[in-house]
Amino acid sequence: MPHQDALAATLHSGSVPTSDTSMDPGGEEAVYRTLLESTRAIPWKIDWATMRFTYIGPQIETLLGWPQDSWISVEDWSSRMHEDDREHVVNYCVAQSIAGIDHEADYRALTRDRGFVWIRDVVHVVRNAAGDVESLIGFMFDISERKRIEQELVKMQKKLEALSFEDGLTRTANRRRFDERFQADWDNAHRTERPLSMILLDIDYFKRFNDRYGHVQGDECLVRVAAALKQIGRAQDVVARFGGEEFVLLLPDTDEATALTIARQSCQAIEALAIPHDDSDCSPFVTASVGVNTVIPSADAQARDFCESVDRLLYGAKQNGRNQLLSA
Ligand code: GH3
Ligand code: MG
Ligand code: MG
Repeated sequence: MPHQDALAATLHSGSVPTSDTSMDPGGEEAVYRTLLESTRAIPWKIDWATMRFTYIGPQIETLLGWPQDSWISVEDWSSRMHEDDREHVVNYCVAQSIAGIDHEADYRALTRDRGFVWIRDVVHVVRNAAGDVESLIGFMFDISERKRIEQELVKMQKKLEALSFEDGLTRTANRRRFDERFQADWDNAHRTERPLSMILLDIDYFKRFNDRYGHVQGDECLVRVAAALKQIGRAQDVVARFGGEEFVLLLPDTDEATALTIARQSCQAIEALAIPHDDSDCSPFVTASVGVNTVIPSADAQARDFCESVDRLLYGAKQNGRNQLLSA
């Protein structure tokens, strides 16, 4: 196969050859050399016995800044690799080469001006007639743009995921997020036999608030209440919008007394916003009614029953005249 012979001849012709084609002007070798050295993929060859480069394309200098003749041995390759990639990439490539398996590896190659470029190195293992590894031939591809797009996609994916767990108006956790965390916290409380507390808050006379001040003001009120509650929630707590004007605080590893304190603080924080509500029968300002309960889940207890118990307490607080807290 003359094509492959010419390619091999090109890669074989001495260490770091120049572009001097005087020996074979217009011949196949010249054609292949021109092809090799004008592609964006950077060809290279390493002699297995000495672990030295016998060839690397001149394009390497344009890409990384290191001159063509500075690529002497595999150490030049491995030392010009981002340290977070070096160990596993070198180990992988060496293992594959010893096993005689063609392979490819992605890594960040260091540039001379202390930056880096994402490279995909595609490696072919060349064996002699006896089957021993003789050399490695490969191409380096600049995959920076692909990596940039990949990373952009991962970032967007994370953002979308975060958004899918967030309530669009109040930026608290949404119901979906709450349901997920509630089940996880419930299971965890059961396993560790630690108390789990829940506070359910419902804004009083909110329909009247909307009727009097309008829906836009109503939304603004929800946003401010949510922000106040988020201030009160600790790092491990979930503050979620449970429904229209209802919020829930899920407090893992929290006993009754602490939950009560947090519930009182929540009521006070909402009142402290001093959002006027002239049509409320229980305060001149926006207030909330609150149910709070604590459980150490037993084996046969149901998360849903616990949730309903908190809802009943909230209902009790409404019945008792609103703007108050009811615990078990
Ligand atoms: P109670 O004191 O018994 O809780 O009375 P309430 O009026 O607060 O309760 P009700 O369930 O009768 O009405 C809730 C109101 O909350 C009605 C609905 O328009 C309003 N609401 C629900 N979601 C939103 C929202 O996203 N924005 C606004 N502005 N209002 C909302
Ligand atoms: Mg309600
Ligand atoms: Mg309400």
